[in-house]
Amino acid sequence: MDNQKNFYIQTFGCQMNEHDSETLAGMLTELGYTQIFDEKDAQLVILNTCSVRENADQRFFGTLGQLKKLKEKKPGFTVAVCGCMMQQQHIIDTLKAKYPWVDLVFGTHNIHEFPKLIDNVMNERRKLVEVWPDGGEIVEGLPVKRLYPFKSFVNIMYGCNNFCTYCIVPYTRGRERSRRPEDIVAEVKKLAEDGVKEITLLGQNVNSYGVSPHYGGYCYKEEENGVDFAGLLYLLNEIEGIERIHFMTSHPKDLSDRLIQAFVDCDKLCKKIHLPVQAGSTEILRRMNRKYTKEQYLELVKKLRAAVPDIAITTDLIVGFPGETEEDFQETLDLVRQVEYDSAFTFLYSIRKGTPAEKYEDQVPEEVKHDRFNRLVEQIHEIQGRKSRRYQDQIVKVLVEGLSQRNSETYAGHTDFGKTVNFNGTPDLVGKIVEIKVTEAKTFSLWGEVVRVIG
Ligand code: SF4
Repeated sequence: MDNQKNFYIQTFGCQMNEHDSETLAGMLTELGYTQIFDEKDAQLVILNTCSVRENADQRFFGTLGQLKKLKEKKPGFTVAVCGCMMQQQHIIDTLKAKYPWVDLVFGTHNIHEFPKLIDNVMNERRKLVEVWPDGGEIVEGLPVKRLYPFKSFVNIMYGCNNFCTYCIVPYTRGRERSRRPEDIVAEVKKLAEDGVKEITLLGQNVNSYGVSPHYGGYCYKEEENGVDFAGLLYLLNEIEGIERIHFMTSHPKDLSDRLIQAFVDCDKLCKKIHLPVQAGSTEILRRMNRKYTKEQYLELVKKLRAAVPDIAITTDLIVGFPGETEEDFQETLDLVRQVEYDSAFTFLYSIRKGTPAEKYEDQVPEEVKHDRFNRLVEQIHEIQGRKSRRYQDQIVKVLVEGLSQRNSETYAGHTDFGKTVNFNGTPDLVGKIVEIKVTEAKTFSLWGEVVRVIG
């Protein structure tokens, strides 16, 4: 084997990016490269970027700065950058002006061209910037090198049509395009044959799967017996070998009664939903262009719990959106108390260049944002701890994923409602579903003992 043909990928951001990195790794593996996990030994480093949070930008440029030193030391060392940040002109301008030594720049819409691009760069030692402004037809059948043999991401759609005023994604990932249901079913059947037990369906807004016909993406309204998102779940629930189905992310405005019914009918659909609310004040939600009110959101939660009483609900919250008053923030606290989230990702609002909210004049001072953030996190953790304790002494089903990140003698996995469980185990349990009796229910994780291996 040619020892020089190796690569290292660093991924910033969301699951969508993680899955894109698996595709990049799959393509490089087909080209004869080996994946390694230390950039210092790599001949090719790929940084797959995210532009959702300000600190992701900063981390990216910081990492790029470090790579320059390696480039100066190692002849032939190649650096490629891709992902959402590359879809923004000011980033391309910065790269050209300050990081001209970067070998390859490509975007989110031409990932399928990566083998050709990297071949040009490697064999002709050319520097290339190749970013498409928007997505074309969906390209099926790209190779994927999955991180785990027993669980997998499955993209069901790309892009977003929602234009929340704080978010850059519609500008970097383009308009919604859905894959055809038969392509998704075929992929999941193949995954099941390969031993995958758990799938996570990915899309910026899975609830509007198949709604928009943009760019020739699948549109269920244009087909006889068309399949909407709930319909897709029913189809996937039938696939033998698949034992757990998750999805993310759901926009509340598009959450249908059919989807709620699918939670009742589909035994493999995990009883957990990530339903980003972002804020509790209807006025702030309006300024965010979220298209639902606090009351409508609470009504959805009520419907979900009426259908599936123990469903785990998680969310995203932004603190300090422009114009947020203390009263608005109190609405957020009130909503959090009413919903009683199982967990929540909380973010301090930061300006994303190129979004409508960048121009809002009533930005909230940093110290006010931080104060609200701390109070919100305290409230969430108090509820999270209380909800977690209901699992004390219960038996939970866990898909064992491997050694715990914190302790090399402890194994870890996830329940079907998304909780991390740690326990003493053995390597042969990895990839299996086991029953665990919870001996200690902490706020962020459960600890327990294996009582039965299901398989
Ligand atoms: S739904 Fe809103 S927050 Fe989510 S990706 Fe689309 S624009 Fe961004």
